[in-house]
Amino acid sequence: MEYDVVIGLEVHVQLRTKSKMFCSCANQYGAEPNTTICPVCTGYPGVMPVPNYEAIRKTIMAGMMCECEISELSKFDRKSYFYPDMPKNYQISQYDLPFCKLGKIRISGKGFSGEALPDKDIGITRIHLEEDVAKSTHYASFSGIDYNRAGVPLMEIVSEPDMTSADEAYAYLTSLKLIMQYGAISDCDMEKGQMRCDVNISLKPKGRKEFGTKIELKNLNSFRSVHRGINHEISRQAELLDQGVALQQETRGWNDDRGATYLMRIKESAHDYRYFPEPDLTPICFSKEEIEMLRKELPELPAQMAERFVRDYELTAYDAQVLTSEKEISTYFDAGAKETKSPKLLANWIINEMLRLRDDSEFSIFEQIPFKNLARLASMISDNIISGKIGKIVFEEMYATGKDPETIVKEKVLAQVTDESAIVEFVKKAIADNPSQVTEYKAGKSAVLQYFVGQVMKLSRGKANPQSVIKLLKEQLDA
Ligand code: ADP
Ligand code: ZN
Ligand code: MG
Repeated sequence: MEYDVVIGLEVHVQLRTKSKMFCSCANQYGAEPNTTICPVCTGYPGVMPVPNYEAIRKTIMAGMMCECEISELSKFDRKSYFYPDMPKNYQISQYDLPFCKLGKIRISGKGFSGEALPDKDIGITRIHLEEDVAKSTHYASFSGIDYNRAGVPLMEIVSEPDMTSADEAYAYLTSLKLIMQYGAISDCDMEKGQMRCDVNISLKPKGRKEFGTKIELKNLNSFRSVHRGINHEISRQAELLDQGVALQQETRGWNDDRGATYLMRIKESAHDYRYFPEPDLTPICFSKEEIEMLRKELPELPAQMAERFVRDYELTAYDAQVLTSEKEISTYFDAGAKETKSPKLLANWIINEMLRLRDDSEFSIFEQIPFKNLARLASMISDNIISGKIGKIVFEEMYATGKDPETIVKEKVLAQVTDESAIVEFVKKAIADNPSQVTEYKAGKSAVLQYFVGQVMKLSRGKANPQSVIKLLKEQLDA
């Protein structure tokens, strides 16, 4: 049978703040276990939480970047559950009045294997703010628990069930991560657990309106696992439905080594978290004016930046999209474009050369070749000081040594010969050395001109200005 796939994602994003959500402990990754803790984040009785305004501000900014409505009235709630990673036996979260709701994210990127996807808006149901829980690690003979992560500000971004394939989910995560990075909301490093994603997925017979039974997938620790996990789950569910098996709501884990999902727990009736308003925190109000003040602080987003690149630097939409696919690249290009007369050439060098080399480099290519140097290289080519071909040699040298292009051109005597009296000597020699080609040319075979250009470039070791070479060749041959 043919099925429609329905996918909704719940993404957790740790906020980049100095301190934790309700205490002044450092929000710092990688510290010695159980060192950035205090009575508040380890749940001692009698302590009082104090909200971190910076975390609230970043959540609202994130909501604005996802085109959400920002609530004028929000509150925190207690979500009760009992587990060693939750020292208070409840988590401070948000239930019915989150900071942000009803937004959307445009996915206009690529799927996992790089093919372009059509533009599509994925709805955002809500974004709420909560505190992260401790991290448990299971060893052969014991389990360890690190409370450093307990109390780290954590956003939960819930999407509408708007995605229909693993590639769309991948593109959604890519766009979301990019927005968070551009907005300095989070670094979204999945390896550090700064971004975590649960997938909800169901199948329904093609064209049917009502959704099927959804399965929740957990333990997806990279975008690649999300993509693989979804595709695996689609086939698994389709196979069962084909056999007429009625699926039940369950939570499954992804085993990346085996490339398969396994049952974690069956969702009985709805979990009773006994939500109630957090009595130690007052509701939070923002006036319309305050919300508009925050809106003014919004940074430029990748899509806006791409539009600006097309408008100001006359790039193609495709090039602009490549350059804004990562913050590091767009910052580099934007800085360089201000320093060169030929931003378009600079864009080409970044896209064709820098990005090609980057994947093989052990060091940061953006540090090895500072933007000023690449911008200078682009200017030297557009000013005809060197040819594009020599530019490649200079570029390789910049990459190898970190030197600036002027120094390299000087040291290697690579500057283009534009002095026609020098070029004309090469032209004369090329003509004298190749009498049979001269005869062909004179007999009307004008394509031979290209051959002569090649000869002259060889004689000048690539340094003759190609326009001058053609002009002088014609003068000599047609004489
Ligand atoms: P729960 O109460 O189980 O957490 P929610 O209604 O809050 O379920 O939805 C959680 C996530 O699951 C959301 O991202 C939503 O878009 C998605 N979702 C809801 N129903 C389905 C479905 N039938 N198939 C796939 N995803 C779904
Ligand atoms: Zn603390
Ligand atoms: Mg839910």
